[in-house]
Amino acid sequence: MLKNGRCMFCAEDTKVAPIEIWNIPGKFKYYCQTHYPEVLNNEEKDKQAFIDYYSNNTTRSWLCSEGLELYTRLTQK
Ligand SMILES: [Zn+2]
Repeated sequence: MLKNGRCMFCAEDTKVAPIEIWNIPGKFKYYCQTHYPEVLNNEEKDKQAFIDYYSNNTTRSWLCSEGLELYTRLTQK
């Protein structure tokens, strides 16, 4: 999975690995080995916060259809 590229966190040209952007399916950002775990952890936290927030029926009814689709996709995994 590693390839030559530029880390999108520290902008260093090095070996980078992809992280899928949690709210944009199929979109990836690339990070060096130093920042990969940190960014992955943050993406996971953001995703979890989104799921937790909208697990409530009332807040979920505020989502637009795209948001609802995202919620459904994330919770079906
Ligand atoms: Zn980096």
